[in-house]
Amino acid sequence: MKSTKLERRTQKLQLTTGMPWAQALKHVAALAPSAVLIPEAHPSQAVLETFFLKSFAWPQADPHHPWGIRCVEPSRNRLVLVFEDQQLPADDYESLTRDLVRAVVPHVDEWGEVRGIPGARFTVARGGILIRRLNMPGSITIVGIPAADWGTAMNLQRQEAEAAGMRYCHDSSPDQWHADELPYREPSTDPLPGQHPRRTSDAWLGSGLLRRAPLLRTIGVPLSTTAWTNPSLDKGQTWIVDYIHEPQVPAPLPHQGYIGLLTDPECGLAITRSTLHCSCARFPEYSTECRFNARSSRGQLGALQVRFSRRTGDNLELYQEDRDDYAARRKLYRPIPAHLARGSAETIHAQDSSRRS
Ligand SMILES: [Zn+2]
Repeated sequence: MKSTKLERRTQKLQLTTGMPWAQALKHVAALAPSAVLIPEAHPSQAVLETFFLKSFAWPQADPHHPWGIRCVEPSRNRLVLVFEDQQLPADDYESLTRDLVRAVVPHVDEWGEVRGIPGARFTVARGGILIRRLNMPGSITIVGIPAADWGTAMNLQRQEAEAAGMRYCHDSSPDQWHADELPYREPSTDPLPGQHPRRTSDAWLGSGLLRRAPLLRTIGVPLSTTAWTNPSLDKGQTWIVDYIHEPQVPAPLPHQGYIGLLTDPECGLAITRSTLHCSCARFPEYSTECRFNARSSRGQLGALQVRFSRRTGDNLELYQEDRDDYAARRKLYRPIPAHLARGSAETIHAQDSSRRS
């Protein structure tokens, strides 16, 4: 059991970001004892990260980790995403690199719509692929994707894109925003008087989820992770995250421990629970899902729904057909230690009991 405050904080950072222990320990030791473990992104950084997650939230290559992200290193103006090692397919078609190129490189599609991250331009170097939006603060660095693979995927994608009538924004406008990208340039460089970017943007939420992607692994063995957005009542957007998993501990701990850390003051998001639809007590053949709904605890735009989609018994067989793939996924589960999970679960259960009575 990790007993010191430094160790407990390190454990939270490790579970939330996927950082190796030594790296997490060094990071926490350098912080003030009461500092939050995961800083909130600068508004411009938050927009970049939200565009990234929105574009990439449904990868076709079926990675093992949630969205293929093994580890994140978040700071206010920067996010490093360390991607999993790839099993390159024989036909070179659906790889994580191909997914990334397809999702994030900005282009105008055959209907004149801008896809990808508007304003993003890419620098490919040995240390990773650097994504910046032109003349805007903030960056994402993709680590774990070899530069050569990026170049190959870019060429393959270009052939497909041109055949479909798409145009890359950087081709005609490498150093400035393409005319079609400009409407997406936010936060605006000259906000209306009295308007704070955070009051008008829900980007904090997509950014906050991306910065905590590895935390999903505490719910159970990752089988498939997807996300999308719907309009929310407050004119922001509701993020829906669907984490299909195989539970490894008795219900309701798989989601209670996760919710505890996702709402934790040190490593969580600034959110308050709206509702928890828990069907853990029902027979598995009738129910395979619980849902957690939350909103900002600071009155910011946007809402969140996390779906805990369980697969057990017969429902799991599909995921066990490829034995090596299944074995690799099982290794990724990260249990929340009892001393971190207990407090969270007890608090949430007490709230549930008082609501029911
Ligand atoms: Zn439940």
